[in-house]
Amino acid sequence: MSDEKLVLAVNSNKNSDANSVLASLIPSQHSLYSLVVSLSAFMMPVSLNAQSNAQSNAQMLTVDNIQAYFSRANIISGPTIVDCTLSGGSKSSCFQITVKAGPSSHDFGPWCPESVSDSAESGGIWLENGEVNDVDGAFIQNLATFYSDSNWQLYNPETGEINVTNTFEKCDGAAKPDVEPEYQQHCVECLNDYLNEDASITYTIPLSPIRTASTSRTNTSGAGVAFNGIRLDGSAPVDAILGNYTLAPFDDCGGHINLNVGYHYHAATDCLTDTSVDTNEGNAIGLAMDGYWILARRLSDGSIPDNLDQCGGHTTEALGYHYHAGDPGSNAILGCLTAETGCVSSKPGQVCDASASSRGPGGGGNRPDFSSAAIKLGVSENVLIQALGRPPLDLEKAAEQLGVTASELQQALAGE
Ligand SMILES: [Zn+2]
Ligand SMILES: [Zn+2]
Repeated sequence: MSDEKLVLAVNSNKNSDANSVLASLIPSQHSLYSLVVSLSAFMMPVSLNAQSNAQSNAQMLTVDNIQAYFSRANIISGPTIVDCTLSGGSKSSCFQITVKAGPSSHDFGPWCPESVSDSAESGGIWLENGEVNDVDGAFIQNLATFYSDSNWQLYNPETGEINVTNTFEKCDGAAKPDVEPEYQQHCVECLNDYLNEDASITYTIPLSPIRTASTSRTNTSGAGVAFNGIRLDGSAPVDAILGNYTLAPFDDCGGHINLNVGYHYHAATDCLTDTSVDTNEGNAIGLAMDGYWILARRLSDGSIPDNLDQCGGHTTEALGYHYHAGDPGSNAILGCLTAETGCVSSKPGQVCDASASSRGPGGGGNRPDFSSAAIKLGVSENVLIQALGRPPLDLEKAAEQLGVTASELQQALAGE
């Protein structure tokens, strides 16, 4: 198998590389997609046919097995086979599905408790240092100690009431990296009702993965899509969230909602088991944006494979190369991607050219398109890159230098 001959480049922390900083700055939360959450499609078992296909031939996707794998997603259209241009410029064949990416197979929420006396039942989870913490009232009350920063004050000390972004406007102002100042010191949650009912998300994923010489990050297109149709996202932008004295908890299934992406996961939990596909290594929970399978963290016997690469992948005889999701506490469903990625879009039927967003200085990878961003902002590419400077990146400062607002800068970099 040619895959195995490829040696993956180590995805080192390129701290002097403005590109990688930007890639991490532009979280997938701030992306183009609006989703709707819908509550249909319940509890149909995955067909045996899907299971046997999974075991015999993991990487040759066909319309039939894709249909079976996603049988419990809220599919609006597809799967169809389309021509696509992958992130590395390869022309390939992809499958395309358009879904309403709601939590079709499990309940969702709650996220924020209302009072410091609330129990864990009233809140979700927060990931820190590899640990999954229950967000109960006491956790919110204890944030100043938890983060060794006395500025944390998410609740009214007299009444014990927690500041929650409990309206559309508040969610809109807070559930993004550049949190509006008035929504600092809030527990951030957005509800299903706030999403546009007609919106959908279209995934275009290669039928057969094309390996890349170096790995790419999951920030742009996300890690993949779960078989329940919900986005398996890149890492949550924890620094931006905490830097604004906000907390954006995930529900117990590892998901939360924002207005751009809808409901999405930042952790792969047992909630995905219901819609998974059996393999000889246990549950396959979804497909990565590069076309490889994503399996649950643990094998059927409860063990964790010990030969995973930095992206979470390895090769076995039965399944070929595939990923195992990160620990729920890791804030990384996948550490990175090892093959060229397809597209994810809020516009159904759009032709996928994933290479378009990765052109620019340096070339390759999932990263912002500086030249179009510069054009949008009316500056030269060099001026833009200089303003962004060396890490840690200060969005406000860079925006000021460029004479634009932070959100204009962010939108330009996100290709909006
Ligand atoms: Zn998120
Ligand atoms: Zn495996």
